[in-house]
Amino acid sequence: MIYLDNAATSWPKPDCVHEAMLRYMRDVGANPGRSGHRLANEAERIRLDAREALAELFGATNPMRVIFTHNATTALNLVIRGLLPPGAHAVTTGMEHNAVMRPLRALEQQGVSLSVVPCRPDGTLEPEALGEHIRPATRLIVANQASNVCGTVLPIREMGAVARQHGIPFLVDVAQTGGCRPIDVRVDSIDLLAFSGHKGLLGPTGTGGLAIHDDFDIDLLPPLVCGGTGSQSEHEQQPDFLPDKYEGGTPNIVGIAGLAAGVRYVLDRGVDRISEHERALTQRLIDGLSSIAGLRLVGTRDASRQTAVVSFAIDGQSVGEIARVLDERFGIMCRPGLHCAPRAHRTLGTLPEGTIRLSPGPFSTEHEIDQAVEAVARLAGAG
Ligand code: PMP
Repeated sequence: MIYLDNAATSWPKPDCVHEAMLRYMRDVGANPGRSGHRLANEAERIRLDAREALAELFGATNPMRVIFTHNATTALNLVIRGLLPPGAHAVTTGMEHNAVMRPLRALEQQGVSLSVVPCRPDGTLEPEALGEHIRPATRLIVANQASNVCGTVLPIREMGAVARQHGIPFLVDVAQTGGCRPIDVRVDSIDLLAFSGHKGLLGPTGTGGLAIHDDFDIDLLPPLVCGGTGSQSEHEQQPDFLPDKYEGGTPNIVGIAGLAAGVRYVLDRGVDRISEHERALTQRLIDGLSSIAGLRLVGTRDASRQTAVVSFAIDGQSVGEIARVLDERFGIMCRPGLHCAPRAHRTLGTLPEGTIRLSPGPFSTEHEIDQAVEAVARLAGAG
């Protein structure tokens, strides 16, 4: 079997992730931040280790400003819904996932206005274009670091500089890039960084969160969920300090144990080395697919300007049918269609049918890429 669906969720996970989750389930089992006995303290230690590893990875100086949610979607909703009252204006890009577009569209119904900065047909964006969309009422700029449809990377550092210059909070969605592309909240001027735990960070599904820059004033951002935290139990109001302010309710601690191990694996192997491994595989995939007649590749077609996500369509063939045959005849797992990102497909000119997406990961091999190219070539020839 060849798994090329790492952009949906990464697989396999390194053994250390399975072991950390099994250890928590078998030997710890308790609720962190509650009870104060030795098992609860061990659970809290695991959660702190996860915060520290993530703070190191994302350049955050204070691990208490890393908070956990169930996924990147919840972290994005927390910020988007929290920072945009009726009358406020937000700026985003033409390459966003529905995890960004849907909360923004929902807020439009409540009097928020939105500008979508257009991207070029390969998904790239001119950072200067951002400034033209900023208004006195702009309260948020939100963008992904890389597209989940074609892997194109946006100029986050330059966009962060524009946001800083105007004093507007900058939210970056690193769902596709955390663990496989460098990012640093300080160097890149990011106020709020939403991450997914189950993709490049190699944790299990049901994990994700937010890293908050030291200079961001958390009084501006109300919690999305209020509830028990194990702290200040005498109060019926949500604590106003981090991380408790945004972590009401029992956390997915078995997932966080796995995530801590996944992030430690990434730090040990090195983001640069993972990135280089994936770049080489991606270029091999692009080169192989480019030689197939009738196949249309989208994006930059340049692995140095994108992540390990390659999208294509074949003239006259249904993307759903190609994916089905790749699975059933060749044992290749991929994702066809619109990838929860109709806005990005509109920019790329691939509506309404969408594309086939192949996404290698840190454990993919050259041999698997060659087999995938061979299988797609046979399908294209048969079409
Ligand atoms: N943003 C992008 C660019 C994504 O690819 C995804 C996941 N497909 C998300 C956000 C949402 O991530 P999660 O599954 O962790 O909610």
